[in-house]
Amino acid sequence: MPPEPVPAEPGWDDDPAWTRPDPMTAAELEAGLDRVCERDEPPGPDEFEDVEPFTPDELAEIQAAAADELLAVEAATTGRRGPGQPGSARVFPGQSSSPAAGFGPGMPLDILPGCAALAVAADAAAGEDGGFAGVSEAELTGVACAWDRVEAHAAARKLAVTAELARRNPAPGDAEFTADQVAYALGESRGRAGDLIGLAQTLETRLPGTLAALLDGTITRYKAEIIARATALLDDAEARAAEQKILDRAARLPPGGLRAAIARAVMEVAPEKAKERREAAARDARVERWAEDSGNAALMGCELPPDEVLAADQRITAWARELKKAGLEGGMDELRARAFLDLLLGKDSRPPQDASGDADSTGPGSSGPGSGRPGSGGPGPAGPDTPPLPAGPAHGAAGFAGRVTLTVPLATVTGLADRPGEIPGIGPVDPWLARDLAAAAARNPKTTWCVTVTDQDGHATGHGCARPEPKSHSKRAGTWPPGFTFSPASRDGPPGGYGTWRLRTPGDGPDLITTLESLTTDPCDHRHETSRHDPGVRLRHLIQVQNATCTSPVCRRPAAQCDTDHNTPYEAGGRTCRCNTGPKCRHDHRLKQHPRWTVDQLPDGTFRWTTPSGRTYTTEPTRYPV
Ligand SMILES: [Zn+2]
Ligand SMILES: [Zn+2]
Ligand SMILES: [Zn+2]
Repeated sequence: MPPEPVPAEPGWDDDPAWTRPDPMTAAELEAGLDRVCERDEPPGPDEFEDVEPFTPDELAEIQAAAADELLAVEAATTGRRGPGQPGSARVFPGQSSSPAAGFGPGMPLDILPGCAALAVAADAAAGEDGGFAGVSEAELTGVACAWDRVEAHAAARKLAVTAELARRNPAPGDAEFTADQVAYALGESRGRAGDLIGLAQTLETRLPGTLAALLDGTITRYKAEIIARATALLDDAEARAAEQKILDRAARLPPGGLRAAIARAVMEVAPEKAKERREAAARDARVERWAEDSGNAALMGCELPPDEVLAADQRITAWARELKKAGLEGGMDELRARAFLDLLLGKDSRPPQDASGDADSTGPGSSGPGSGRPGSGGPGPAGPDTPPLPAGPAHGAAGFAGRVTLTVPLATVTGLADRPGEIPGIGPVDPWLARDLAAAAARNPKTTWCVTVTDQDGHATGHGCARPEPKSHSKRAGTWPPGFTFSPASRDGPPGGYGTWRLRTPGDGPDLITTLESLTTDPCDHRHETSRHDPGVRLRHLIQVQNATCTSPVCRRPAAQCDTDHNTPYEAGGRTCRCNTGPKCRHDHRLKQHPRWTVDQLPDGTFRWTTPSGRTYTTEPTRYPV
C-alpha cells in the first residue's frame, strides 16, 4: 500500500516556542531584522557531513584532470574535436558527450576550485545557442555550482584589489576618503563602499581561512560577511580560532545554520566577550515602529532580556490558542498577531459566545485577558510542553516554561554537570545567559528537565528525562548554591557513562532523578519501538533529541513542529522506532514522498537525500554545545 499523501497545509502547531521555519528572507534582511531573526533560530543547527579540504596531491590531480577538460572545452569552442568530444577516439569512462560532461557529479570541473578558467568552461557548457542542449540535470547543477564558485572567486579578487587601494592610502587624511573614491567608481553609497573596504581588510588581516574559502569558492561572499560580522568582537587570534571551528561545514550550511554555528563558536572561543557584548547591547533596548510597504504598520522590541521575551512569546501563543478555541478564524500567524495586540491593549478578541456551562467561555462583556479568566479554568493538566495560560498583565508571569536540556559531554560526565544547553527558540547563548535562562525556567513549575550526553562532536549519544525524586516531593529546605549539581544516584551505570543520576536545579524545587540511556541505532535495540503507526510520547521525544530540527539538509524547522516520518513506510513494514523515523517538516515530508526524490536513514543517524538529478546530500544529527 502506498504511503498516505501528505497534505500541503501544515497542521496546528503545538510548540511553545513557536518560531518561523527560516526567518531569513532578503526583504527582512533589508528591513534590518537580522538580529531579531537570529534570536528566532531553533536550538540545534542541522549540520552536514564535514567537507574535508583537499590535500595538495589531490588538488594537483584535480587540476590536471580539469586542465584536460579545459583543453576539451577549448577545442570545442574553436571547432576542433578533442578528448571526450563527439567523434573523438578518446572517451573518458562515465563521460557523456554533452558540452557540460565535465560538470557531472564528481567530475573534475564539478570539484575544481573557483578560478577564471572555470568561468570559461562554465560559459562554454551552455552550448552554442546557450540552450544547454544535451546537458543533464546533474550537469546543470554542476554548472550552477561552478558559477557559484566563480562568483565567490571574483568577489575575493575584488576584495583583494579594494584592500590594496586602501593600503595605498594609509595616511589618515587620505584613508578617510578612500571609501568615496570606491563609491564614485562603483556607483555605490559611501556606506556600502566603506563596508566593502572593511570586509576586505578584515578578511586579509583576521580571517585567513575564510578568505581562502572565498577565493576557492567554498563559501559565498554572503557567508564570508556572516563570519566577519559575528567575529568582529574578537581579537585576531580568537577570530582565527572561531573560523576554524566552522569552516569544515560552512560550505553546506544554509545562512541561518552558519550564523548559529559561528555564534556558538564565538561563545566557545571568548565567552566573556560574548557576554559583554550582550550586556552592552541591552543598553540599546527599544521598541521600534514603522510603516510597511503595504500600508500596514510594524512594531518590534529589540535587545530585550531573553527570558522575558520567551515568557512574552509563550503568553502570546497561549492567548492565540484561547482565541482559536473561542472560534476566531485565522492561521497561527494571524492569531498570534491578534493576541499580541490584545495583550498590549488589554482587549479581548474572542468572538461572542452563547452562554453555556463552559467555565472557559466567559462570553461577551468579559473584561479581557487582564481579567485572568482564560487561565482560571484551564484546559486540564498541563503537559510538559504546555505554556502557562495568559493571566493578564495584572497577574504577572511565572517566567517562561521550557524543556531545559543540560548537555554533558560523555568524557566528563562524572566530573562536570552544570552546563545548561541551548533552549528552544533562543539559539546559541553564552554560558551565563544559559544559566540565567535555566534558572528563570526553574521558577516555572511546568518546566521539564532533560540531560543529554554528547560525544566529542556534540551528537547526542545518551539521554535521560528528569523526574522528581519519589521520596522527596517536598521542597528543599535551607539555602543551596545557585546552579546545578549532578551526582550519581546509583552504582549501576557503566564507568563514566549511564546509570541513574541526581540533578539539583536552582531554586527550591525537589531533587530530580534521571536515568540515562544510550541513543545508538548502530545497532538499534528497538527499545521504544511500538507496533502502532504513531510513536509514543517517549519515542517521539528521543527522536527529537537526536534531531532537534527537520532532517533536510537546508531546513531548520524545530522538530516539535515537524511530522515524525517513517523512512521505510509503516505500510511497507517499516518500524516505528528511532532507527526508522526522523522529523520532517511538512514541506520536506512531501518532498520525500515525491517519486523522483529518495531519502535514506543510515544506522549512524545520518540522513542521505538524493535529488532527482542523482546528487546526494547528507545531514548529520544535531550538534549540541560541547
Ligand atoms: Zn528528555
Ligand atoms: Zn530500532
Ligand atoms: Zn524541513
